[in-house]
Amino acid sequence: MSAAKAEKHSVYQNVIRQFNNAADIMKLDPDVRSILSKTTNEIIVNFPVKMDDGRVEMFTGYRVQHNNALGPYKGGLRFHPNVNIDEVRALATWMTWKSAIADIPYGGAKGGIQIDPSKYSQAELERISRRFAYALGSNIGPEYDIPAPDVNTNGQIMAWILDTFQSTVPPQMRHASVHVVTGKPIEAGGSVGRNKATGQGVCFCIEQWAKDHNFDLSKATFIVQGYGNVGSWSAKLVARHGAKLIAVQDHTGTIYSKNGIDAEKLADYVAEKRGVAGFPGTEKIDDKDFLSIEADIFIPAALEGQLTEETTGKLKVKLVAEGANGPTDVNGDKILKEKGIDLIPDVLCNSGGVIVSYFEWLQNKRSEFWDLEEVDSKLYKKIIAGYQRVKAAAEKYNVDWRTAAYIVALARLEIVFKERGIFP
Ligand code: GLU
Repeated sequence: MSAAKAEKHSVYQNVIRQFNNAADIMKLDPDVRSILSKTTNEIIVNFPVKMDDGRVEMFTGYRVQHNNALGPYKGGLRFHPNVNIDEVRALATWMTWKSAIADIPYGGAKGGIQIDPSKYSQAELERISRRFAYALGSNIGPEYDIPAPDVNTNGQIMAWILDTFQSTVPPQMRHASVHVVTGKPIEAGGSVGRNKATGQGVCFCIEQWAKDHNFDLSKATFIVQGYGNVGSWSAKLVARHGAKLIAVQDHTGTIYSKNGIDAEKLADYVAEKRGVAGFPGTEKIDDKDFLSIEADIFIPAALEGQLTEETTGKLKVKLVAEGANGPTDVNGDKILKEKGIDLIPDVLCNSGGVIVSYFEWLQNKRSEFWDLEEVDSKLYKKIIAGYQRVKAAAEKYNVDWRTAAYIVALARLEIVFKERGIFP
């Protein structure tokens, strides 16, 4: 790293820098480059919701549709105070790359509401979710743009969105629109295996990395940041190989135990207490010491911008497996490379969620129900095929895995644009 402080960039500027770097290396067609460097549609809705005490509060919701050359727009909705147009643009763009790498027929989108959901009652959250879905109206649709869960959203919220959407279409169209959202509860048309899918995908990628490096996972230690759906499932599944979870950080603090933390029990604890702080049998350590813990694997599964110029140098791990979207910025990537730390980038590593969303969507369209074995084995095939494509690109172009993942995505999109041409 040069002595001069690297410039700070917004999340979306980071995506564009990652994109331009890969586009230069693979010599992406300039017309395709200019198309993909912009989002297609950016929808911002302000909508009123009645609170439990009778007051009306205004909310701002976003849906950014980056590109749909490969299929309908697809991507999650997050409820978080940090949600803003720049972040949603970045997340939507990553979804385009993610679907392209996974080789599923989707484009990229993302959305959300700028709120802290912990400040609202369940009844208020229901009205907020429904009113947001209503405000989005025909900007979403089962063959057009298909939301899913993301940070602080879940199957229940998808069920409310589904019900609201179905209530706005003619009765004859209701059942034909059950695939307007994915990540639904099973009873409302969801798929088995979707809830754990992102963590399962992270685990499959880590297994493959271990195989490739002759690394014994049963003797591994790992640390996890964020213990929501992705962090907890990744931890539980990696721990089933015998690997030892030694530290976890979330918004409530950092817990550590050199003897290992029970990933299953911690998940139950977090479901009840809403955070990892105070988990019995662990010691509380300072948040800023978390990244310097010596372990084999680090799974960031929280928000963007965790591994930066300031923080990445602290890492003492062999592998970063990105469960979160965008945890590492461009400066962080440089340091990972310098330190020789392997990286399984977000657009590959966390693609299990959208891959099983695709399976849910297919099951809905065909009125089928697959069993867990079928879902898991199809997920394994898809994500490992993506892993092998990224690995091959990294070798062919002699680049880091993030750049390789971008190259795989851009190469696929370039072919489609060239074949179809530009209207008119
Ligand atoms: N929110 C998840 C992601 O970032 C899942 C998206 C989906 O299933 O559409 O990949």
